[in-house]
Amino acid sequence: MENRSGETIRFGSCYCRAVAFRVTGQPLRVGICHCADCRKTSGSAFSAYAVWPISALEQTGQVSTYGNRSFCVTCGSRVTFVRDDEAEVMLGSLDVVPSDLTPEYELWTGRRENWLHPLPEARQFEHDRDLAAEPELPETEQPGRTLETEVPRPTELVRPV
Ligand SMILES: [Zn+2]
Ligand SMILES: [Zn+2]
Repeated sequence: MENRSGETIRFGSCYCRAVAFRVTGQPLRVGICHCADCRKTSGSAFSAYAVWPISALEQTGQVSTYGNRSFCVTCGSRVTFVRDDEAEVMLGSLDVVPSDLTPEYELWTGRRENWLHPLPEARQFEHDRDLAAEPELPETEQPGRTLETEVPRPTELVRPV
């Protein structure tokens, strides 16, 4: 479903449907995590989730929170995990199945069950996402970029008095 601005709206809920939510627009990222916390809290072999800016989420119904993860007080389903600026939504809580969301990365791959294979298109991380290790292209190799025109020079950043 789309809103008037053409943004995708996705609906979701817990198992008993007391908690319901919707997220508007495309997620910032979609991932899979095999870490110990994700295994224990989901009771499954891994968790799959998508992350939206907090402003994209509207939610109704009562949730309780333990260790930063929230769940329906009635049925215990994990639904959303709300941080200061982001909302993590469990893919399994979305209503339309299969969803159109595909994980772009996998975390804690050393804890992946042996019967699971790495997703061929997904970036693999041994632990959490290490953004510092992101390879940076040298300036000369950045496609379509001209430093002269696109990066403001220091003097232009100073506001006129
Ligand atoms: Zn519920
Ligand atoms: Zn995890």
